[in-house]
Formats: sequence, structure tokens, C-alpha cells
Amino acid sequence: MKILLAMMSHETNTFSPVPTPLERFGGGTRPLEGPDIQRFFQNRGSTLAGMLSVAQRHDVELITPIAAGAPPSGPVDDDAYTYITETICAAAVGCDALLLDLHGAMVTRTYPDGEGQLLAALRQAQPGIPIAVGLDMHANLYPGMVENATIISGYHTYPHIDMFETGVRAAEILFRTLAGEVAPTMVWGNRPMLPHVMRQGTDDFPNKELQAQCRSLEASGEALAVSLFTGFPHADIENAGLSVVVVTDNDPEKAAAIRDELLDRAWQDRSSFVYQLKPLTSSIAEGIAARDEPGDGPIILLDHYDNTASGGTMDTTEVLREILAQGLEDVAAFGIFDPEAVGQMIAAGVGSRVTVNIGGRFHMGALKQQSSPLEVSGVVRLISDGRFTIRGPMATGSAMSMGPSVVLDTGKVEIVVISRHVEPYDLGCFYSLGIDPLAKTYLMLKSRIHYRAVFLPIAKKIVECAGRGVCTSDYDELTFEHVRRPIYPLDNLNDWEYPGNPV
Ligand SMILES: [Zn+2]
Repeated sequence: MKILLAMMSHETNTFSPVPTPLERFGGGTRPLEGPDIQRFFQNRGSTLAGMLSVAQRHDVELITPIAAGAPPSGPVDDDAYTYITETICAAAVGCDALLLDLHGAMVTRTYPDGEGQLLAALRQAQPGIPIAVGLDMHANLYPGMVENATIISGYHTYPHIDMFETGVRAAEILFRTLAGEVAPTMVWGNRPMLPHVMRQGTDDFPNKELQAQCRSLEASGEALAVSLFTGFPHADIENAGLSVVVVTDNDPEKAAAIRDELLDRAWQDRSSFVYQLKPLTSSIAEGIAARDEPGDGPIILLDHYDNTASGGTMDTTEVLREILAQGLEDVAAFGIFDPEAVGQMIAAGVGSRVTVNIGGRFHMGALKQQSSPLEVSGVVRLISDGRFTIRGPMATGSAMSMGPSVVLDTGKVEIVVISRHVEPYDLGCFYSLGIDPLAKTYLMLKSRIHYRAVFLPIAKKIVECAGRGVCTSDYDELTFEHVRRPIYPLDNLNDWEYPGNPV
């Protein structure tokens, strides 16, 4: 039996000016292809690795054409999309089943649902074969994805620490299907709501409870897979937002009942998915006041408007500027993306005193207000190639590359300046650069929820800071033209009753 295993993964922020060419899909210059994929993904904390581990327990011929995953950014270039999908489609010919690690929020220059287009092409070529898909919790679901897959399974955690388990779940259902043990039937639905990413964490109500319900329905055997996708709101496409997919063993009525209960519950609690804004100056002042509060560990200053893992440019300077203006001391900041400044500081060398402009280089056309470069003076404390192995619990064991990286020490703030877009969701971001994050009074992090996986347990306090950036938590800063209307909270649907679930 021949099984195809492949990955095509991208969370597209349609407001982001960061380009997404083929070179962005992969740890190096292009996606990983062929048999190397199996070696590379062995025991990694990813959906593909989970699928691989299940496939390796079966006596099958495994075809691994491509593993293409890019950090979030703007719409995917058409030639990159064509290359990835044609590689998968060509390898799928003659296969008995397909295992696909897809993100579920890919927007290309041409298509709003990159995954739906791929699945439709695969289904058309081979109508009868089972196709199992693993999706990120931020998937924005389209009918084409559900109609052309046999099994869909999504993460239950945010921070995403169950990517491997999601791959295992999808693959096990696929192999049970091939063995004739189950006959998956799948339904889906959505609600007109755009949950704020800052309110989607599974430490918090209501997503904690919603995901727990999904897990318990799977554990009890009532359903094969139950996925609630909070969706990715920074994609101005018709179907952005919250949705549910349920897979049962040949019981469409039960699947529909589970779907409706979850959607009704999410809709009921929609106001808890809305983020409350605070001005930046008062957030930094709150951070200063927190120094005198009891407790140990660093105070986290969260620059959540510019999270690269939501498509942020990672080079806006407003939060760092305010930290310097209010005179905070003993700060480590991760980080500013600025390959040009990195090059200047590498040329100056370790120990040199430099004055450089960092950040503020991307023009963010979707925003009315831009960021600007920040002039800083300090000592080049450390130069690194930016490579380390992730300790976890997110993406445990994976190789991280921040590109050539520099620590610039102003005396009060150690600023990490990097050359590849990397969200700080692992302590290695600091330890690999000679900074002990536990020993700092403050850590500035450009992140939204994923930082919680390691920084929440060690932090004294979290202060959310409204900076600037294309993953702004203030929807008023963005112009939505394509998302279906009305939709909450862009439209006031506080008293609106959902007219009824699809039959
Ligand atoms: Zn996600």
C-alpha cells in the first residue's frame, strides 16, 4: 500500500507587507523534499511528525514529496503555491491514501483558500481514496476543504503544544478507515464571529472550556475527531472566523448535533472573545509599578501588535521606544528584525560601541500609522549565527534559525536584533544568546499567545502593550473589505440571535 505524506503550511495575514516567496517555505533556501523529510521530522513536535510516527507503525510504502512550511506573512506568491501543490499532486498519483499537514489559513495572490484548492485538485484526480488532514486552530474554513477531505483534525491547544498528537489522531483514523474499522462522516459549520487572537488562548475562558469539550467527545468515543477552529482574523477573506468540524463513525446526525452545540456555545460567549484595549504609556507605567509587587521572575512586556507568528513585520519600535523613554532598567528585548542593522553591528565587531537605527523599515500599507526606525547607542555584546535547538514544549526538538543575530546592550536594555522572523516561544531565544531570561527584571516579547508555553510559568506578571503592527488587536485600525458581513464584533451583534443551524 502506498501512502503520501506531505506538508503545506502557512498562516496568511492579508494585511502584512512581508513577502511569501518559495524561499520562505523551509529552514533554508527552499522546502525540504523527498526521503530527507522522514529523517528530519523524526520525533519532532509537529503534525507531520505525528502522522509519520503512525505511518511507520504500518507496513506501507511512504511517499514524502515535500514539507513546505513558512512563518506567517503576506499572501503566498502564485509561483510558490503552484510549485508546492503541483509537487504534491504529481506524487499523489497512484497512492492509496493521503496524509496532509496543512495549516488551513493560506491565502495566495489568487485564492482565498489555498488548502481548499489543493484538496479539490487531489480529490478530482483520485475520487475514492481517503484523505486525512491536520489543521492549525487558526484555520479559516472553506467548504472546499471539508468537501474534498475524508478526515479533518485540528489542534486543541493555544499555545500549540499538541501538534504531534493532532497528526497522530488524523493518521490513526485514516489507517482505521483503510482497515475497514470505521467509516468517517464529516460535517462543519461556522458562526459570524472573529475571535480576537489575544482572547483565543486555551488558558482562558471560553476557549479552554470549548477545547476541553472537543477532547472529551473524542476520548469518550462519541466522535472520531472534534475540532473547534478559532480562526485567524487578520485575513480579510470571506470565511475568516470561528468554525467547527466533526468527524463521526458513519453517524451524520450525531456529528451535526455536536457541531451545533459547540457553535451555539461559542456564539453565546462571543463577548469573551473580544479584546479590551489599553494605551501603551499606561501599560509601561503598570510594568514599572509591578517591580514593587511581591513575587519572583521577570515582568513580561508583551508587544502583541507585532507578532511575527501572526504575520507581523517584527520591526515596529513603539513599545521598545516607550521602554527606553520611561527609563526601565534590566530589560531584555526579543527582538527586532533588521538584517541591515545586524550587518552593521557584525562589521563593527563584539565590544564596539555603536549608534544604529533599528527597525521601522517595512511600509505597512494596511495601516494609517507607520512605525519608524529607532536610533539606539550601545555596545555590541554578542554576535551569533542564530541557531539553536528548541527545548519545547512547543515544537520540541526542532531546529530554530534566527539568522545572523546580535545583542546590543544600551546599559539598561539588551536588544536582540535578528535576521529571520522568529517568535519568542522558547527560552532558547535568550539562552542561545547568553541572556538568562529568568534573571532579568523585564522581558519585552513580540508575541501574543505562544510565549505562554514557557514564559507564563516563570513570569512575575504579564503586561500587554499596545504597540503598532499588522497584527494589531484594534480592529478599527484595519479596513475589512472581503470578510462576510455582518460579523461580530465588527458589527454590533450583541442582541442578534443566530437564525438557525444548517440542516
Ligand atoms: Zn495557530
